[in-house]
Amino acid sequence: MSNRFDGELTRSTAAALAGAIRNGEVTATDVAQAHLDRIAKVDEKVHAFLHVDAEGALAKAAEVDAKLARGERLGPLAGVPLALKDVFTTKGVPTTCGSKILQGWVPPYDATVTRRLREADIVILGKTNMDEFAMGSSTENSAYGVTHNPWDLTRIPGGSGGGSSASLAAFEAPLAIGTDTGGSIRQPASVTGTVGVKPTYGGVSRYGLVAFSSSLDQGGPCARTVLDAALLHAVIAGHDPMDSTSIDLPVPDVVGAAKLANVEGMRIGVVKQFDGEGYQEGVRQRFHEAVQTLRDLGATVVEVDCPSFDYALPAYYLIAPSECSSNLARFDAMRYGLRVGDDGVNGVEEVMALTREAGFGPEVKRRIMLGTYALSSGYYDAYYGSAQQVRTLIMRDFDRAFADVDVLVSPTTPTTAFKIGERADDPMAMYLADLCTIPTNMAGNAGMSVPVGLAPEDGLPVGLQIIAPAMADDRLYRVGAAVEAAMTTKWGHPLIEEVPSL
Ligand code: GLN
Repeated sequence: MSNRFDGELTRSTAAALAGAIRNGEVTATDVAQAHLDRIAKVDEKVHAFLHVDAEGALAKAAEVDAKLARGERLGPLAGVPLALKDVFTTKGVPTTCGSKILQGWVPPYDATVTRRLREADIVILGKTNMDEFAMGSSTENSAYGVTHNPWDLTRIPGGSGGGSSASLAAFEAPLAIGTDTGGSIRQPASVTGTVGVKPTYGGVSRYGLVAFSSSLDQGGPCARTVLDAALLHAVIAGHDPMDSTSIDLPVPDVVGAAKLANVEGMRIGVVKQFDGEGYQEGVRQRFHEAVQTLRDLGATVVEVDCPSFDYALPAYYLIAPSECSSNLARFDAMRYGLRVGDDGVNGVEEVMALTREAGFGPEVKRRIMLGTYALSSGYYDAYYGSAQQVRTLIMRDFDRAFADVDVLVSPTTPTTAFKIGERADDPMAMYLADLCTIPTNMAGNAGMSVPVGLAPEDGLPVGLQIIAPAMADDRLYRVGAAVEAAMTTKWGHPLIEEVPSL
Protein backbone atom coordinates (compact mmCIF):
# COMPACT_ATOMS: atom_id res chain seq x y z
CA MET A 1 0.00 0.00 0.00
CA SER A 2 1.60 3.29 -0.93
CA ASN A 3 0.28 6.25 0.97
CA ARG A 4 1.56 8.62 3.60
CA PHE A 5 0.58 6.18 6.32
CA ASP A 6 3.31 3.71 5.30
CA GLY A 7 1.15 0.80 6.27
CA GLU A 8 0.51 2.41 9.65
CA LEU A 9 -3.18 2.97 9.11
CA THR A 10 -3.99 1.75 12.59
CA ARG A 11 -1.75 4.41 14.18
CA SER A 12 -3.60 7.26 12.56
CA THR A 13 -6.19 9.61 14.01
CA ALA A 14 -9.78 9.31 12.85
CA ALA A 15 -9.60 12.83 11.40
CA ALA A 16 -6.57 11.95 9.23
CA LEU A 17 -8.11 8.65 8.12
CA ALA A 18 -11.36 10.34 7.13
CA GLY A 19 -9.46 12.95 5.10
CA ALA A 20 -7.37 10.32 3.35
CA ILE A 21 -10.46 8.28 2.48
CA ARG A 22 -12.24 11.35 1.12
CA ASN A 23 -9.23 12.33 -1.00
CA GLY A 24 -8.94 8.85 -2.44
CA GLU A 25 -5.51 8.35 -0.87
CA VAL A 26 -6.73 5.13 0.77
CA THR A 27 -9.92 3.15 0.43
CA ALA A 28 -12.30 2.58 3.31
CA THR A 29 -11.86 -1.13 2.59
CA ASP A 30 -8.08 -0.89 3.15
CA VAL A 31 -8.65 0.98 6.39
CA ALA A 32 -11.22 -1.56 7.64
CA GLN A 33 -9.00 -4.48 6.65
CA ALA A 34 -5.96 -2.99 8.41
CA HIS A 35 -7.94 -2.72 11.63
CA LEU A 36 -9.40 -6.22 11.29
CA ASP A 37 -5.83 -7.51 10.78
CA ARG A 38 -4.67 -5.66 13.86
CA ILE A 39 -7.56 -7.17 15.87
CA ALA A 40 -6.63 -10.64 14.58
CA LYS A 41 -3.05 -10.01 15.65
CA VAL A 42 -3.48 -8.57 19.15
CA ASP A 43 -6.97 -9.19 20.47
CA GLU A 44 -6.14 -12.65 21.70
CA LYS A 45 -3.96 -10.88 24.28
CA VAL A 46 -6.15 -7.82 24.91
CA HIS A 47 -9.66 -9.29 24.59
CA ALA A 48 -11.25 -5.91 23.86
CA PHE A 49 -13.91 -7.44 21.60
CA LEU A 50 -16.75 -9.81 22.40
CA HIS A 51 -17.84 -9.96 18.80
CA VAL A 52 -15.97 -8.90 15.66
CA ASP A 53 -18.27 -8.26 12.71
CA ALA A 54 -15.71 -8.54 9.89
CA GLU A 55 -18.36 -9.18 7.29
CA GLY A 56 -20.51 -6.22 8.30
CA ALA A 57 -17.46 -3.93 8.56
CA LEU A 58 -16.15 -4.83 5.10
CA ALA A 59 -19.61 -4.50 3.58
CA LYS A 60 -19.99 -1.02 5.07
CA ALA A 61 -16.49 -0.04 3.91
CA ALA A 62 -17.28 -1.23 0.37
CA GLU A 63 -20.47 0.83 0.47
CA VAL A 64 -18.43 3.93 1.43
CA ASP A 65 -15.96 3.28 -1.39
CA ALA A 66 -18.83 2.89 -3.86
CA LYS A 67 -20.46 6.13 -2.70
CA LEU A 68 -17.15 7.96 -3.12
CA ALA A 69 -16.67 6.47 -6.58
CA ARG A 70 -20.10 7.88 -7.49
CA GLY A 71 -18.94 11.28 -6.28
CA GLU A 72 -21.34 11.44 -3.32
CA ARG A 73 -20.51 13.88 -0.53
CA LEU A 74 -20.04 12.01 2.72
CA GLY A 75 -19.95 12.95 6.42
CA PRO A 76 -16.75 13.94 8.24
CA LEU A 77 -16.05 10.44 9.62
CA ALA A 78 -17.19 8.35 6.65
CA GLY A 79 -15.22 5.12 6.36
CA VAL A 80 -13.57 5.40 9.79
CA PRO A 81 -13.72 2.21 11.90
CA LEU A 82 -15.26 2.16 15.37
CA ALA A 83 -15.60 -0.22 18.33
CA LEU A 84 -19.06 -0.20 19.95
CA LYS A 85 -19.68 -1.07 23.58
CA ASP A 86 -21.84 -4.18 23.77
CA VAL A 87 -24.57 -2.35 25.67
CA PHE A 88 -26.01 -0.70 22.53
CA THR A 89 -28.42 -2.75 20.46
CA THR A 90 -27.29 -3.61 16.95
CA LYS A 91 -29.81 -5.07 14.52
CA GLY A 92 -28.72 -8.55 13.46
CA VAL A 93 -25.54 -8.43 15.55
CA PRO A 94 -25.37 -10.06 19.03
CA THR A 95 -25.70 -7.79 22.07
CA THR A 96 -24.85 -9.29 25.46
CA CYS A 97 -24.01 -6.42 27.85
CA GLY A 98 -21.24 -8.73 29.08
CA SER A 99 -23.91 -10.95 30.65
CA LYS A 100 -24.64 -14.62 30.31
CA ILE A 101 -28.34 -13.85 30.57
CA LEU A 102 -28.22 -12.24 27.11
CA GLN A 103 -26.12 -14.95 25.50
CA GLY A 104 -27.41 -15.58 22.00
CA TRP A 105 -29.68 -12.53 21.90
CA VAL A 106 -29.71 -10.82 18.52
CA PRO A 107 -31.58 -7.49 18.72
CA PRO A 108 -34.27 -6.80 16.13
CA TYR A 109 -33.46 -3.06 16.13
CA ASP A 110 -30.63 -0.53 16.24
CA ALA A 111 -30.07 1.88 19.13
CA THR A 112 -30.27 5.52 18.03
CA VAL A 113 -26.50 5.79 18.56
CA THR A 114 -25.97 2.74 16.33
CA ARG A 115 -28.29 4.16 13.68
CA ARG A 116 -26.52 7.52 13.69
CA LEU A 117 -23.13 5.82 13.33
CA ARG A 118 -24.42 3.85 10.35
CA GLU A 119 -25.99 6.94 8.78
CA ALA A 120 -22.66 8.77 9.17
CA ASP A 121 -21.02 5.89 7.22
CA ILE A 122 -18.84 4.94 10.17
CA VAL A 123 -17.61 1.34 9.94
CA ILE A 124 -18.61 -0.66 13.03
CA LEU A 125 -15.89 -3.29 13.63
CA GLY A 126 -17.66 -5.10 16.44
CA LYS A 127 -18.88 -5.04 20.02
CA THR A 128 -16.59 -4.48 22.97
CA ASN A 129 -16.26 -6.21 26.32
CA MET A 130 -17.65 -4.62 29.47
CA ASP A 131 -18.51 -5.28 33.07
CA GLU A 132 -21.84 -7.07 33.19
CA PHE A 133 -24.60 -4.50 32.58
CA ALA A 134 -21.94 -1.78 33.04
CA MET A 135 -21.50 -2.51 36.75
CA GLY A 136 -17.84 -2.29 37.62
CA SER A 137 -14.58 -0.39 37.21
CA SER A 138 -12.28 -3.04 35.77
CA THR A 139 -14.13 -5.15 33.15
CA GLU A 140 -13.47 -8.13 35.44
CA ASN A 141 -17.24 -8.51 35.93
CA SER A 142 -17.82 -9.60 32.32
CA ALA A 143 -19.24 -13.10 31.95
CA TYR A 144 -16.94 -13.53 28.95
CA GLY A 145 -13.53 -13.02 30.56
CA VAL A 146 -11.42 -10.01 31.45
CA THR A 147 -10.00 -7.37 29.13
CA HIS A 148 -6.32 -6.56 29.55
CA ASN A 149 -4.81 -3.08 29.60
CA PRO A 150 -2.57 -2.77 26.49
CA TRP A 151 -0.05 -0.77 28.56
CA ASP A 152 0.50 -3.73 30.85
CA LEU A 153 -1.45 -6.91 30.20
CA THR A 154 -1.47 -7.84 33.89
CA ARG A 155 -3.52 -4.73 34.67
CA ILE A 156 -7.17 -3.73 34.27
CA PRO A 157 -8.26 -1.43 31.43
CA GLY A 158 -10.81 0.28 33.65
CA GLY A 159 -14.53 -0.29 33.51
CA SER A 160 -17.18 -0.76 32.76
CA GLY A 161 -16.12 0.23 29.23
CA GLY A 162 -12.67 -1.38 29.38
CA GLY A 163 -13.12 -3.06 26.01
CA SER A 164 -13.77 0.21 24.19
CA SER A 165 -10.80 2.02 25.74
CA ALA A 166 -8.46 -0.95 25.37
CA SER A 167 -9.36 -1.20 21.67
CA LEU A 168 -8.16 2.40 21.22
CA ALA A 169 -4.96 1.96 23.24
CA ALA A 170 -4.15 -1.26 21.34
CA PHE A 171 -4.70 0.50 17.99
CA GLU A 172 -7.51 -1.89 17.10
CA ALA A 173 -9.85 1.05 16.42
CA PRO A 174 -9.41 4.83 16.21
CA LEU A 175 -12.88 5.51 17.61
CA ALA A 176 -15.09 3.84 20.20
CA ILE A 177 -18.36 4.37 22.03
CA GLY A 178 -18.81 3.95 25.76
CA THR A 179 -21.45 4.61 28.40
CA ASP A 180 -20.93 6.41 31.66
CA THR A 181 -23.25 5.90 34.65
CA GLY A 182 -20.69 6.73 37.32
CA GLY A 183 -17.44 6.97 35.37
CA SER A 184 -17.37 4.12 32.86
CA ILE A 185 -16.17 6.28 29.98
CA ARG A 186 -13.80 8.58 31.87
CA GLN A 187 -12.08 6.10 34.21
CA PRO A 188 -11.20 3.60 31.44
CA ALA A 189 -9.95 6.54 29.33
CA SER A 190 -7.77 7.67 32.22
CA VAL A 191 -6.11 4.30 32.83
CA THR A 192 -5.52 3.57 29.13
CA GLY A 193 -4.14 6.99 28.16
CA THR A 194 -7.07 7.79 25.87
CA VAL A 195 -9.78 10.48 25.70
CA GLY A 196 -13.31 9.81 26.95
CA VAL A 197 -16.31 12.10 27.24
CA LYS A 198 -19.53 11.83 29.21
CA PRO A 199 -21.80 14.31 27.46
CA THR A 200 -24.51 16.26 29.28
CA TYR A 201 -27.32 13.94 30.40
CA GLY A 202 -29.86 13.96 27.60
CA GLY A 203 -27.28 15.08 25.06
CA VAL A 204 -26.94 11.65 23.45
CA SER A 205 -29.98 9.41 23.05
CA ARG A 206 -30.40 6.44 25.38
CA TYR A 207 -32.83 4.68 23.02
CA GLY A 208 -31.45 1.16 22.56
CA LEU A 209 -28.85 1.60 25.30
CA VAL A 210 -29.66 -1.31 27.63
CA ALA A 211 -30.53 0.46 30.89
CA PHE A 212 -28.51 0.13 34.08
CA SER A 213 -29.48 3.30 35.98
CA SER A 214 -31.67 5.37 33.71
CA SER A 215 -31.28 8.71 35.49
CA LEU A 216 -27.47 8.43 35.30
CA ASP A 217 -26.65 6.46 32.10
CA GLN A 218 -25.15 8.43 29.24
CA GLY A 219 -23.48 7.27 26.03
CA GLY A 220 -20.46 9.14 24.74
CA PRO A 221 -17.40 9.23 22.49
CA CYS A 222 -13.96 7.67 23.10
CA ALA A 223 -10.88 8.31 20.96
CA ARG A 224 -7.13 8.84 21.07
CA THR A 225 -7.36 12.59 20.47
CA VAL A 226 -9.69 15.33 21.63
CA LEU A 227 -10.58 16.38 18.07
CA ASP A 228 -11.49 12.79 17.15
CA ALA A 229 -13.74 12.60 20.21
CA ALA A 230 -15.39 15.89 19.17
CA LEU A 231 -16.02 14.67 15.63
CA LEU A 232 -17.67 11.55 17.01
CA HIS A 233 -19.62 13.54 19.63
CA ALA A 234 -21.12 15.63 16.82
CA VAL A 235 -22.28 12.46 15.02
CA ILE A 236 -24.04 10.81 17.97
CA ALA A 237 -25.45 13.83 19.85
CA GLY A 238 -28.73 15.64 19.30
CA HIS A 239 -32.40 15.39 20.08
CA ASP A 240 -34.16 12.05 19.69
CA PRO A 241 -37.94 11.78 20.05
CA MET A 242 -37.46 8.09 20.98
CA ASP A 243 -35.84 9.11 24.30
CA SER A 244 -38.09 11.12 26.59
CA THR A 245 -35.08 12.56 28.46
CA SER A 246 -33.36 13.71 25.28
CA ILE A 247 -32.66 17.46 25.26
CA ASP A 248 -34.24 19.38 22.41
CA LEU A 249 -31.56 22.06 22.01
CA PRO A 250 -28.81 22.56 19.44
CA VAL A 251 -25.67 20.45 20.10
CA PRO A 252 -22.86 22.65 21.47
CA ASP A 253 -20.12 23.32 18.87
CA VAL A 254 -17.72 20.69 20.18
CA VAL A 255 -15.69 20.44 16.97
CA GLY A 256 -15.17 24.21 16.81
CA ALA A 257 -14.10 24.19 20.46
CA ALA A 258 -11.62 21.34 19.92
CA LYS A 259 -10.08 23.31 17.07
CA LEU A 260 -9.97 26.48 19.18
CA ALA A 261 -7.92 24.72 21.88
CA ASN A 262 -7.42 27.90 23.86
CA VAL A 263 -7.95 28.56 27.56
CA GLU A 264 -6.83 32.16 27.70
CA GLY A 265 -9.02 34.11 30.08
CA MET A 266 -10.94 31.02 31.21
CA ARG A 267 -11.64 30.52 34.89
CA ILE A 268 -10.80 27.03 36.14
CA GLY A 269 -11.72 25.57 39.52
CA VAL A 270 -9.73 22.85 41.27
CA VAL A 271 -12.14 20.74 43.34
CA LYS A 272 -10.79 20.81 46.88
CA GLN A 273 -12.45 17.49 47.77
CA PHE A 274 -10.51 15.62 45.05
CA ASP A 275 -7.03 16.76 45.86
CA GLY A 276 -5.99 15.21 49.13
CA GLU A 277 -5.08 11.95 50.78
CA GLY A 278 -5.80 8.62 49.18
CA TYR A 279 -4.47 9.64 45.78
CA GLN A 280 -1.44 7.96 44.24
CA GLU A 281 1.56 10.29 44.41
CA GLY A 282 2.29 10.19 40.67
CA VAL A 283 -1.36 10.92 39.90
CA ARG A 284 -1.26 14.03 42.09
CA GLN A 285 2.03 15.10 40.56
CA ARG A 286 0.79 14.89 36.97
CA PHE A 287 -2.49 16.52 37.97
CA HIS A 288 -0.74 19.51 39.55
CA GLU A 289 1.55 19.85 36.54
CA ALA A 290 -1.51 19.92 34.29
CA VAL A 291 -3.08 22.63 36.46
CA GLN A 292 0.15 24.64 36.18
CA THR A 293 0.04 24.13 32.40
CA LEU A 294 -3.46 25.62 32.36
CA ARG A 295 -2.16 28.65 34.26
CA ASP A 296 0.77 28.97 31.86
CA LEU A 297 -1.70 28.94 28.98
CA GLY A 298 -3.49 31.96 30.42
CA ALA A 299 -6.28 30.49 32.55
CA THR A 300 -7.07 31.73 36.04
CA VAL A 301 -7.08 28.88 38.54
CA VAL A 302 -8.90 28.97 41.87
CA GLU A 303 -9.75 26.35 44.49
CA VAL A 304 -13.43 25.45 44.72
CA ASP A 305 -15.16 23.88 47.71
CA CYS A 306 -17.86 21.30 46.95
CA PRO A 307 -18.53 19.72 50.38
CA SER A 308 -21.43 17.51 49.27
CA PHE A 309 -19.15 15.64 46.85
CA ASP A 310 -17.97 13.65 49.89
CA TYR A 311 -21.41 12.00 49.95
CA ALA A 312 -21.68 11.37 46.21
CA LEU A 313 -20.28 7.84 46.29
CA PRO A 314 -22.59 6.47 49.04
CA ALA A 315 -25.60 8.20 47.47
CA TYR A 316 -24.70 6.74 44.05
CA TYR A 317 -24.60 3.24 45.55
CA LEU A 318 -28.21 3.67 46.63
CA ILE A 319 -29.56 5.31 43.49
CA ALA A 320 -27.78 3.16 40.88
CA PRO A 321 -28.68 -0.21 42.51
CA SER A 322 -32.27 0.97 43.09
CA GLU A 323 -32.74 1.83 39.44
CA CYS A 324 -30.92 -1.32 38.30
CA SER A 325 -33.11 -3.58 40.43
CA SER A 326 -36.08 -2.22 38.53
CA ASN A 327 -34.45 -2.12 35.07
CA LEU A 328 -33.09 -5.65 35.27
CA ALA A 329 -36.50 -7.10 36.15
CA ARG A 330 -37.10 -7.36 32.40
CA PHE A 331 -34.64 -10.26 32.19
CA ASP A 332 -37.27 -12.83 33.06
CA ALA A 333 -36.25 -15.79 30.85
CA MET A 334 -39.27 -15.17 28.64
CA ARG A 335 -38.21 -12.28 26.45
CA TYR A 336 -34.48 -12.41 25.78
CA GLY A 337 -31.50 -14.76 25.64
CA LEU A 338 -30.95 -17.47 28.21
CA ARG A 339 -33.69 -19.78 29.55
CA VAL A 340 -32.86 -22.35 32.22
CA GLY A 341 -35.02 -25.16 33.60
CA ASP A 342 -37.76 -25.00 30.97
CA ASP A 343 -38.40 -28.75 31.13
CA GLY A 344 -42.17 -28.79 30.93
CA VAL A 345 -42.39 -29.54 34.66
CA ASN A 346 -41.06 -26.31 36.22
CA GLY A 347 -43.52 -23.44 36.45
CA VAL A 348 -42.91 -19.96 35.03
CA GLU A 349 -41.64 -18.55 38.31
CA GLU A 350 -39.21 -21.41 38.77
CA VAL A 351 -37.85 -20.93 35.24
CA MET A 352 -37.43 -17.22 35.94
CA ALA A 353 -35.61 -17.85 39.20
CA LEU A 354 -33.35 -20.54 37.74
CA THR A 355 -32.52 -18.36 34.74
CA ARG A 356 -31.71 -15.30 36.84
CA GLU A 357 -29.65 -17.42 39.22
CA ALA A 358 -27.61 -18.86 36.33
CA GLY A 359 -27.58 -15.78 34.11
CA PHE A 360 -26.51 -12.96 36.43
CA GLY A 361 -23.02 -12.69 37.93
CA PRO A 362 -22.24 -11.89 41.59
CA GLU A 363 -21.92 -8.09 41.23
CA VAL A 364 -25.24 -7.78 39.40
CA LYS A 365 -26.94 -9.92 42.06
CA ARG A 366 -25.39 -7.77 44.79
CA ARG A 367 -26.76 -4.61 43.18
CA ILE A 368 -30.24 -6.08 42.65
CA MET A 369 -30.39 -7.07 46.32
CA LEU A 370 -29.12 -3.68 47.50
CA GLY A 371 -31.60 -1.88 45.27
CA THR A 372 -34.57 -4.04 46.20
CA TYR A 373 -33.78 -3.45 49.87
CA ALA A 374 -33.33 0.30 49.47
CA LEU A 375 -36.66 0.59 47.69
CA SER A 376 -38.65 -1.60 50.07
CA SER A 377 -41.50 0.06 51.94
CA GLY A 378 -40.41 1.45 55.27
CA TYR A 379 -36.86 2.00 54.04
CA TYR A 380 -37.55 4.04 50.93
CA ASP A 381 -37.31 7.47 52.60
CA ALA A 382 -34.31 6.55 54.72
CA TYR A 383 -32.24 5.28 51.79
CA TYR A 384 -33.47 6.22 48.34
CA GLY A 385 -35.07 9.45 49.58
CA SER A 386 -31.92 10.62 51.38
CA ALA A 387 -29.77 9.74 48.39
CA GLN A 388 -31.97 11.90 46.19
CA GLN A 389 -31.54 14.76 48.66
CA VAL A 390 -27.77 14.38 48.43
CA ARG A 391 -28.19 14.57 44.69
CA THR A 392 -29.85 17.96 45.06
CA LEU A 393 -27.00 19.17 47.29
CA ILE A 394 -24.46 18.07 44.68
CA MET A 395 -26.31 20.03 42.01
CA ARG A 396 -26.27 23.11 44.26
CA ASP A 397 -22.51 22.75 44.81
CA PHE A 398 -22.05 22.63 41.04
CA ASP A 399 -24.32 25.64 40.53
CA ARG A 400 -22.37 27.65 43.09
CA ALA A 401 -19.05 26.60 41.57
CA PHE A 402 -20.09 27.39 38.01
CA ALA A 403 -21.16 30.87 39.08
CA ASP A 404 -17.44 31.57 39.56
CA VAL A 405 -15.63 29.28 37.13
CA ASP A 406 -16.09 28.00 33.57
CA VAL A 407 -14.93 24.44 34.25
CA LEU A 408 -13.80 22.32 37.18
CA VAL A 409 -10.79 19.99 37.14
CA SER A 410 -9.60 17.01 39.20
CA PRO A 411 -7.73 13.77 38.69
CA THR A 412 -10.08 11.42 36.80
CA THR A 413 -9.43 8.52 39.16
CA PRO A 414 -7.29 8.26 42.32
CA THR A 415 -4.80 5.68 40.98
CA THR A 416 -3.35 4.37 37.74
CA ALA A 417 -4.48 0.97 36.40
CA PHE A 418 -4.43 -1.61 39.17
CA LYS A 419 -3.55 -5.29 38.80
CA ILE A 420 -6.17 -7.73 37.55
CA GLY A 421 -7.56 -9.52 40.61
CA GLU A 422 -6.30 -6.92 43.08
CA ARG A 423 -9.73 -5.48 43.94
CA ALA A 424 -11.92 -8.30 42.61
CA ASP A 425 -12.97 -9.45 46.10
CA ASP A 426 -13.23 -5.98 47.59
CA PRO A 427 -16.26 -4.11 46.23
CA MET A 428 -15.51 -1.02 48.35
CA ALA A 429 -12.00 -0.64 46.92
CA MET A 430 -13.44 -1.12 43.44
CA TYR A 431 -16.14 1.52 44.01
CA LEU A 432 -13.51 4.10 44.97
CA ALA A 433 -12.23 4.17 41.38
CA ASP A 434 -15.22 6.41 40.57
CA LEU A 435 -14.86 8.80 43.49
CA CYS A 436 -14.13 11.82 41.27
CA THR A 437 -16.41 10.98 38.36
CA ILE A 438 -19.72 10.22 40.10
CA PRO A 439 -20.80 13.80 41.01
CA THR A 440 -21.08 14.66 37.31
CA ASN A 441 -23.50 11.80 36.70
CA MET A 442 -25.51 12.77 39.76
CA ALA A 443 -25.92 16.33 38.49
CA GLY A 444 -26.30 15.47 34.81
CA ASN A 445 -23.57 17.79 33.57
CA ALA A 446 -20.63 16.98 31.27
CA GLY A 447 -17.16 15.52 31.89
CA MET A 448 -14.05 14.51 29.99
CA SER A 449 -10.85 12.62 30.77
CA VAL A 450 -7.75 13.62 28.83
CA PRO A 451 -4.26 12.09 29.24
CA VAL A 452 -1.70 14.22 31.10
CA GLY A 453 1.35 11.96 31.10
CA LEU A 454 2.55 8.87 32.91
CA ALA A 455 2.92 8.40 36.66
CA PRO A 456 6.66 8.34 37.40
CA GLU A 457 6.45 5.39 39.83
CA ASP A 458 4.79 2.90 37.45
CA GLY A 459 4.94 4.43 33.96
CA LEU A 460 1.15 4.18 33.56
CA PRO A 461 -1.20 6.83 32.14
CA VAL A 462 -2.82 9.52 34.28
CA GLY A 463 -6.00 11.36 33.27
CA LEU A 464 -7.17 14.89 33.96
CA GLN A 465 -10.91 15.21 34.51
CA ILE A 466 -12.58 18.35 33.17
CA ILE A 467 -16.18 19.08 34.21
CA ALA A 468 -18.49 21.60 32.52
CA PRO A 469 -22.05 22.79 33.19
CA ALA A 470 -24.93 21.04 31.42
CA MET A 471 -25.06 21.85 27.69
CA ALA A 472 -21.63 23.50 27.84
CA ASP A 473 -19.89 20.37 26.56
CA ASP A 474 -17.92 22.57 24.16
CA ARG A 475 -15.88 23.88 27.13
CA LEU A 476 -14.56 20.36 27.77
CA TYR A 477 -13.18 20.22 24.27
CA ARG A 478 -11.71 23.71 24.41
CA VAL A 479 -9.80 22.94 27.61
CA GLY A 480 -9.06 19.31 26.70
CA ALA A 481 -7.57 20.23 23.34
CA ALA A 482 -5.42 22.96 24.91
CA VAL A 483 -4.07 20.51 27.50
CA GLU A 484 -3.52 17.89 24.81
CA ALA A 485 -1.56 20.33 22.65
CA ALA A 486 0.64 21.32 25.59
CA MET A 487 1.27 17.66 26.44
CA THR A 488 2.12 16.94 22.82
CA THR A 489 4.76 19.66 22.87
CA LYS A 490 6.17 18.10 26.01
CA TRP A 491 6.00 14.40 25.21
CA GLY A 492 5.26 13.99 21.50
CA HIS A 493 2.03 12.86 19.95
CA PRO A 494 0.13 10.64 20.16
CA LEU A 495 0.91 10.12 23.81
CA ILE A 496 0.76 6.41 23.23
CA GLU A 497 3.22 6.10 20.35
CA GLU A 498 4.12 2.58 21.26
CA VAL A 499 2.17 0.41 23.62
CA PRO A 500 4.95 -1.37 25.48
CA SER A 501 3.38 -4.76 26.09
CA LEU A 502 2.09 -5.57 22.59
N1 GLN B 1 -18.07 1.76 38.37
C1 GLN B 1 -19.36 2.32 38.55
C2 GLN B 1 -20.34 1.22 38.88
O1 GLN B 1 -19.92 0.13 39.01
C3 GLN B 1 -19.79 3.07 37.33
C4 GLN B 1 -20.16 2.19 36.21
C5 GLN B 1 -20.62 2.93 35.00
O2 GLN B 1 -20.36 4.13 34.83
N2 GLN B 1 -21.35 2.23 34.14
O3 GLN B 1 -21.49 1.41 39.01
